[in-house]
Amino acid sequence: METILYLAHSEDDGSLGRAALETLSGAVELHKKMSSSRFVAGFVGGDVTAALTAASGCGAETSYSVSGPDFAMSRCASDTAALEAICRASGATIVVAPATSRFNRAIPGVAQRLGGRIDTHVGGFSVEGAELRIQRGYYRQRMIATLTRAARPWFLTVDSGLFAQWAGAAAPLKSERLDVAIDNDLRRTKVVGYQAPMAAAQTIRPDAKLLFVAGVGWTKKQADGQVHLEEAAKVITDFLGRSNASLGSSKSLVDQSSDGHNVFPFMSHLNQVGQTGATPRHPKGLAACCHGEEPHVVGWRFIGERRAINLDPNCGWAQGKADVLYVADAFALVAKVSELL
Ligand SMILES: Cc1cc2nc3c(=O)[nH]c(=O)nc-3n(C[C@H](O)[C@H](O)[C@H](O)COP(=O)(O)OP(=O)(O)OC[C@H]3O[C@@H](n4cnc5c(N)ncnc54)[C@H](O)[C@@H]3O)c2cc1C
Repeated sequence: METILYLAHSEDDGSLGRAALETLSGAVELHKKMSSSRFVAGFVGGDVTAALTAASGCGAETSYSVSGPDFAMSRCASDTAALEAICRASGATIVVAPATSRFNRAIPGVAQRLGGRIDTHVGGFSVEGAELRIQRGYYRQRMIATLTRAARPWFLTVDSGLFAQWAGAAAPLKSERLDVAIDNDLRRTKVVGYQAPMAAAQTIRPDAKLLFVAGVGWTKKQADGQVHLEEAAKVITDFLGRSNASLGSSKSLVDQSSDGHNVFPFMSHLNQVGQTGATPRHPKGLAACCHGEEPHVVGWRFIGERRAINLDPNCGWAQGKADVLYVADAFALVAKVSELL
C-alpha cells in the first residue's frame, strides 16, 4: 500500500502560500485516485499553527510537524534535516511537495538521504490500475512525457498553476510534533534579509491576469525610417502601469542589451519567455511586435487566451497560434488601449 505524504513549509506569517495550497489540492485528488493509499501530511516552519488550520479538511489521517525558530528560515541544512525526519516518521512512499524555491533547494537532498528518486516540475498525475503516472514537460524537446517509477520513496515537486488552491472545511488537522536537533554546524547559514527590486520596478508579476510580451519590433525602424526607442519604452511602461500586466520578452529583444545596444532598462533576461526562457502561467496573453516561434510554441504553452499585435499578417502568430491577431501598428494600438484604461 502506498503512503502519500504531502509536504509544505509555512510562510513568514505562518500561513501556507499559494503553491502549497495548490499542491495540497493535487495531493488530495491523487489520494482519491489511489483509493487504497494512506494520506499523511508534514509541515516545517517557524510556527505552523496557521498552516495546519489552512490544511484543515484535507483528509490526512495524521500529520507531522517540525517547527521553531531554527526552521523559520529557508536554509537547506535545517530544512533537509526536518524533512528527512518527517519522511522517516511517516513511512512515505510517495512524497508530493510544492516546487517553491525553498523546497527546490532542500528536497533533492532528502531524496538522496532516503535513497529515493525525485522528479521535478511535475505537471499532473494519473492513476492506471494502482500505478501512479506523472506528467512532465521537456521543454527543449517540446514533449510532454508520462512517467512511472518502481523506486520508493518517490519525491514529486509540483509546479504551480495546475490545481485550484485548497480551501478546506474546518476540521482541524492532528499533528505530531517531531524534535529535530540543529547543532551549530547546521546553523552556520543565516538569512539576513531579502534584496528585491521595488514593487513598481518589478515587471515580472506571476499573479497578473495578463502577460504582455514585447518583441524586437519595438526597436525596429518604423514607417518614418527611424527607430523610436524612447516612445516604445513609454508606451510599454504606461501600458504595464495601467494594466498591471506582467512583462515578457522575446529572446532577441533581451539579447540586444547584452550586445551593448541601447534597449529597455526595465527588461532583462529574466523576462524572456520561450524554449530557453520561462513558461509563465497567466489567464491571458498579449504579444506585440513579436514574431518568434519559440515564445509562442513553448513560452505560451500555459497561457489561456492568446492575442497578438503585428504589422505583418503572416507573422508567426498568424499560423494558428493566436486566438486573435490584430494586424496593426503596436505603437498606436497599445497607446490607445492605455488611454482607454
Ligand atoms: C535553440 C534556440 C532557442 C531559442 N529560444 C528562444 C526563447 O526561449 N525565447 C525567444 O523569444 N526566442 C528564442 N529563440 C529565438 C527565436 O527563434 C526568434 O528568433 C525570436 O523569438 C524572434 O524575436 P522577435 O519576435 O522579437 O523578433 P523578430 O522576429 O524580428 O520579429 C519582430 C516583429 O515585430 C513586428 N513589428 C515591427 N514593427 C511593428 C509595429 N509597429 N507594430 C506591430 N508589429 C511590428 C514585425 O512585423 C516582426 O514580426 C531561440 C532560438 C533558438 C535557435
